[in-house]
Amino acid sequence: AGHFLGRVRAHADLGAYLATSEECTLKQARAADQSISAGDGGPLAGVPIAHKDIFVTRDFPSTAGSKMLQNYRSPFDATVVRRLADAGAVTLGKLNCDEFAMGSSNENSAYAPVKNPWDKSRIPGGSSGGSAVAVAAGLAAAATGTDTGGSIRQPASFCGITGIKPTYGRASRYGMIAYASSLDQAGPMARTAEDCALLLSAICGPDPDRDSTSLDVPAEDFTRALQGSIEGLRIGVPKEFLAEGVSADVRAAIESALRQYEKLGARRVEISLPRTELAIPVYYIIAPAEASSNLSRFDGVKFGHRAKQYGDLLDMYKKSRAEGFGLEVQRRIMVGTYVLSHGYYDAYYLQAQKIRRMIADDFQNAFRECDVIAGPVAPTVAWHLGEHGGDPVADYLADIFTLPGSLAGLPGMSIPCGFGEGGMPVGLQLIGNYFGEGKLLNAAHQFQ
Ligand code: GLN
Repeated sequence: AGHFLGRVRAHADLGAYLATSEECTLKQARAADQSISAGDGGPLAGVPIAHKDIFVTRDFPSTAGSKMLQNYRSPFDATVVRRLADAGAVTLGKLNCDEFAMGSSNENSAYAPVKNPWDKSRIPGGSSGGSAVAVAAGLAAAATGTDTGGSIRQPASFCGITGIKPTYGRASRYGMIAYASSLDQAGPMARTAEDCALLLSAICGPDPDRDSTSLDVPAEDFTRALQGSIEGLRIGVPKEFLAEGVSADVRAAIESALRQYEKLGARRVEISLPRTELAIPVYYIIAPAEASSNLSRFDGVKFGHRAKQYGDLLDMYKKSRAEGFGLEVQRRIMVGTYVLSHGYYDAYYLQAQKIRRMIADDFQNAFRECDVIAGPVAPTVAWHLGEHGGDPVADYLADIFTLPGSLAGLPGMSIPCGFGEGGMPVGLQLIGNYFGEGKLLNAAHQFQ
């Protein structure tokens, strides 16, 4: 742990960490040492990890990358944090992210911009950009992330690491600061599928008293799935995932990964996910709708920032929220409030819910022909800081390949599969059917 804390200090310019506490970390590390000596260390005893600042923690501040929660201290640990600690992991600190996990480049963090360690003039991806950078730059052995519409997979892809988002409901959302509750899932980000399997085994499991959407599916040791043969594995490649819009360098890296899979004995089958393009408008209706509701708790009374000067109560709400929330968060609250308002609800929100179901059905049709689905995580490699010039739609469009799986609640992962423009890493996305995490990790491990 001391080694990693030294590296965190030495590479502070990357902006990956929002909070560290040498005292807390070393205390946990000593306890882990003792448990190892006593022979009762957990499966992750002494492993130094860090948490995306969306997870609340007792020992560190929890900001969600927002001014709204600057210096906020939670009285409890998120279930994911607690489960990893119970497995013996040692916490190095809290990791930078887009504000309330809304973003694709980490540029929406209210704190430092996070830099991609492969090229510091580029974004690391988002919203779990701090997590991806911490792992890629050796500032943590592994990290947690959250994925609502791609936030584990896309930064993993942009930083050349491995990340997995499990089936919706496998990981408890208790203590994960809510963005879009019907989509939010936690998952690990690490160097390899094997490391992800170790962490995911600790993370998953029912939490019925604390998260009503947590599924009654027992925890699983995913490391046991890794060695299976992938001979005859049917890999479905959606034709919409390699259509125009995917840059040539990314396409080449994906094609070569697919050829590698064929060499390993897998079989490539062409499939179709015909509503891929619709995932963008559908997601950017549903996610803001849920966000507008979830973020109503930040009113200057119960949590977080309160304006210093105000007139009456309403004025206090308005000023506190205007000062505490960044522009993208405000934009989503407005969009969400609009699509949920009387008169527009049927036209936008209800319609989006219907198409969401059709997108999920498309996946079930596809899984009749294949075992896992493969394609790019994003249409390009990591872009330059400021390149999208604050145009939110440019960011939204780049989410096209991660959103469909999120809307369907399917497990998905990103594994490094080559390099593209500027020598930047390219990630291969693997999407599995519900509870197919073992199969995904197996396919990833055999590739690595
Ligand atoms: N880029 C997407 C968004 O901004 C996904 C973010 C996420 O998965 N948390 O909503």
